[in-house]
Amino acid sequence: MKTWKWFASASAVALTAAITVPAQADVSIDDIVNDAATAGDVVSSGIGPKGQRYSTLTKVNKDNVGSLVPAWAMSLGGEKMRGQETQPLVKDGVMYITGSYSRAWAIDVKTGREIWQYDHRLPEGILPCCDVVNRGGALFGDKFIFGTLDAKLVALSAKTGKVVWSKKIDDFKAGFSSTAAPLIVPSKAHGPILVTGVSGGEFGIVGRVEARKVDSGEIVWSRPTIEGHVGTLNGKPSTMTGKKNETWKGDLWKTGGGATWLGGTYDPDTKLIFIGTGNPAPWNSHMRPGDNRWSCARIAIDPETGNIKWGFQTTPHDGWDYDGVNEVVSFDLNGTKAAATADRNGFFYVLDRTNGKFIRGFPFVSKISWASGLDDNGRPKYVKENYPGNPTASKDGKKGKAVFAIPSFLGGKNWMPMAYNKDTKLFYVPSNEWGMDLWNEPVTYKKGAAYLGAGFTIKPIFDDHIGALKAVDPASGKIVWSVKSKTPLWGGVMTTAAGLVFYGTPEGDFKALDASSGKELWSFNTGSGIVGSPITWEQDGQQYITVVSGWGGAVPLWGGEVAKSVANLNQGGMVWTFKLPKTVAAN
Ligand code: CA
Ligand code: CA
Repeated sequence: MKTWKWFASASAVALTAAITVPAQADVSIDDIVNDAATAGDVVSSGIGPKGQRYSTLTKVNKDNVGSLVPAWAMSLGGEKMRGQETQPLVKDGVMYITGSYSRAWAIDVKTGREIWQYDHRLPEGILPCCDVVNRGGALFGDKFIFGTLDAKLVALSAKTGKVVWSKKIDDFKAGFSSTAAPLIVPSKAHGPILVTGVSGGEFGIVGRVEARKVDSGEIVWSRPTIEGHVGTLNGKPSTMTGKKNETWKGDLWKTGGGATWLGGTYDPDTKLIFIGTGNPAPWNSHMRPGDNRWSCARIAIDPETGNIKWGFQTTPHDGWDYDGVNEVVSFDLNGTKAAATADRNGFFYVLDRTNGKFIRGFPFVSKISWASGLDDNGRPKYVKENYPGNPTASKDGKKGKAVFAIPSFLGGKNWMPMAYNKDTKLFYVPSNEWGMDLWNEPVTYKKGAAYLGAGFTIKPIFDDHIGALKAVDPASGKIVWSVKSKTPLWGGVMTTAAGLVFYGTPEGDFKALDASSGKELWSFNTGSGIVGSPITWEQDGQQYITVVSGWGGAVPLWGGEVAKSVANLNQGGMVWTFKLPKTVAAN
């Protein structure tokens, strides 16, 4: 595991360029709750709190998308480029983005010029597991808020980029960090709250979800994700998560993982926060008998109290690092308030989002080896002979029986968000098909040290592809179409009412597909790999589409044999914004 060194000037400064500043952001809670329906702005991660990443815009459509051209491009600069996993936000003519090494920018959307840049001062010895990425910020009122690699939350003035408040989440030396986009949620009792999780599941931290006052950053409630730990509400202990030692024998729950590193979504219909939890710690499952709740799960949290309304464990007693963090997307399934999630473990789940009940689940990647399927309650049917062996049962006690497991721990799908189109009734899932040699080793917890107890090498399982963008029908479990990619997909997806799907590839191609057939209608090479998530909005009667390009993320660091296939990709850091040329747009 690498220790990242901050290399640039060690001062946290907001650089205000000498240009005219457009109107400042003033984002209300209604703007956020209604974000999906208002095409003039994008004020939430997920293009709406439900996370559907669906835009109502139709000006760019199947007939004219082939004519898209760059409106402007802006470089993120810096001496060193790393993965750019951000999703931009746009409000009142200003775009807000985050970048690698905990940086943030405001950009004039008319010209692509920088309004301000914020470079967070990062200390020596930060411990991000999977590249120095950031996945975006939150806008509320006149603030832009984002998490940093040294486990802080920083609220900037959206107008100037100056720090309004800054709060420590936890000790970065223990492995805590923050890379997810915060979520703004309405609450009756507390007013709008800022909901965030924590990263650090590979270091034996205990996952939690926290709600803060947006104006001050003060904590309203906290909810640990591992059974036996007690939450807080208004500064006092509240309720215990689960029941101590019910599904965790012994003491390992105290360093039990369950990191909430990808943040959550919010459903205004049920008034619930949905958030996923990562692997139980350590990876070596033989050390922690039991289901290890609520690791590798999706949980629904009441924003008023921080209490868990329901939980659904995708991989009970995980032994493969199948983090259950992937986004929960609320959608209507023939009148049922449903939610869907595509798990690292290779299965796609459809749940009743009012109570967490399992509706159906099915594989969305091929050759899954660790489970033969799901039972009527959605619990995996484990394949015993494919389970990594117990090291204490081996001759020297140092290495358990190795297995080849599919998917690899980087998942049938990782963090990169899927999109749901209510017209086609399909989910568009950025998936990867790969496996790993996996074995267990003894390990003991040590603060700030990797806490895995496992060794692994990721390998391809097909000659022609690893990545595949798949159109998934949640009603039938069918894969309607699939577009293969030689390299692993690592960026988000967006779909529109015009029947388009947008996504990017590691080779840097930003593509538009026909949402019904998967046919490619447009492609533009952005010069570096795309691991960010696209957005679209309308301004002055014109539809704009933006994606941030810049190769990196977990694949080059952890990808084993797969990493070799992407070793020649160039790094970068560029915001690309597209529009139709005037002659085409007018038609
Ligand atoms: Ca909007
Ligand atoms: Ca993990």
